[in-house]
Amino acid sequence: MHSIKYVYSLSAFATALVVSTTQIAAAQNVQLSLQGQRFSAHQAATPLESNVTIPANVKITLGQSGAFKQYTSTFFPGDIEFRFLTVGDHNGAASFDLLGWRTGVEYDVLDAKGALETRAEAYFLAPNLLLKAGTNRQAMTTPPEWQANYQFESFLDQAGRPATVVIDKRTGEVVSARSANLLYEYQNYLGDKSTRTAQSIKVKAGGNLVADWQAVQITELVEINEQEFVHPKGYQKRQALGTLRVEKIADNTYRIDGSVSGYHTHFVVGEKSIAVFDTPIFPNEITRVKSLIQDTAPGKSISHIVFSHTHRDHIGGAAQLAQEGTQIITGKEGKLAILRQLGDKLNANTIEAISPTTIDLGGRQIQVIPVPSSHASEMLIAYDRQSKTLFQGDFFMMPDLGPAPVGFTVNRELMRHLTASALVPDRIVSVHGRVSTMQELMQTVTLLDAEKKKK
Ligand SMILES: [Zn+2]
Repeated sequence: MHSIKYVYSLSAFATALVVSTTQIAAAQNVQLSLQGQRFSAHQAATPLESNVTIPANVKITLGQSGAFKQYTSTFFPGDIEFRFLTVGDHNGAASFDLLGWRTGVEYDVLDAKGALETRAEAYFLAPNLLLKAGTNRQAMTTPPEWQANYQFESFLDQAGRPATVVIDKRTGEVVSARSANLLYEYQNYLGDKSTRTAQSIKVKAGGNLVADWQAVQITELVEINEQEFVHPKGYQKRQALGTLRVEKIADNTYRIDGSVSGYHTHFVVGEKSIAVFDTPIFPNEITRVKSLIQDTAPGKSISHIVFSHTHRDHIGGAAQLAQEGTQIITGKEGKLAILRQLGDKLNANTIEAISPTTIDLGGRQIQVIPVPSSHASEMLIAYDRQSKTLFQGDFFMMPDLGPAPVGFTVNRELMRHLTASALVPDRIVSVHGRVSTMQELMQTVTLLDAEKKKK
């Protein structure tokens, strides 16, 4: 699944405007709390659907000094929760994975510009503070049909980026705001003065609803303890990715490491051909990945690509990687999602494995097994008995660095399947995170059981 910290990408609209530090400080200390849903394409629990609704919860603290803190929690199918904390000020920001499964004990850094933009975007969720936080507010020509009730205005947001608002002339309240490709629609204002805010905020990108917030609260804080903005303990700065490369993980079994996205493709080389497991999106990297695979197994073609499931981040690179005659294997109804995302040509070369299937690479046989899950109904795992490697996607992930985290429902589903079918892999590989072990999978399930007991 995609990592969706609450950072909307507005960088396409970034300008070189200089923002003075007096501008950065907001008029007051406030805390924002929002509950609602986010919407994501190509991440649904079944290939029958394209979009998925993601329950989401955001808490933001904006300090007068320019310091800020943003907590986000989002739930994907299979009970998989992303829980991130971003803490920053005008020098930069750091983002922490509070559940320790995605980026583990490593934190990501935003530079001063990125931090300022993140902070500026928070004000679009507090329309009564939006214009106060911005600068250079100017009336625009309002289209005639709107003139009776509304006034259009332009301004620069806190990061100096151009934005516009529509103001209700009667109430003086902001009805909508536009920033880069995002449109915010505000309705149902409640509260007094500084804590007054829209209870309903819809966020659209290119006309599509991407977030719908219903329970919105603003609290004014007289004072903020500086401890609020201290980094959580036990984390370290993320290690460098290194160059894009092939790592051997077992006999004739390889993983692509060092991609900018942090995602991994795996492949097994037989006497005759190659099988590839998942083809995550590698923007501008897929050509290099293709030649890395060819250099590892000169003269051999890719006979199979196995998709663990059809979420976009697991299949996006297939069109460029597939060769003439490559067979794609997906789970039940997966062809629907492939047609939608990858088109006719790849779909014509795709088969659905609705029962265990063996693929033969010449002296090397891989079992492809359907294991329907709450994350994706078409889920497949692949097992290479020779190297005892289990290929899977999104059932289970260990971060690159950090201990076994508390598991999710999906971890238990995988554990149950492995136990029932007496599969004991030496290693479990995943698109996200490090090569892990059966023991680590068991630990995550044990921790999940303990957590459930506490509740
Ligand atoms: Zn997924």
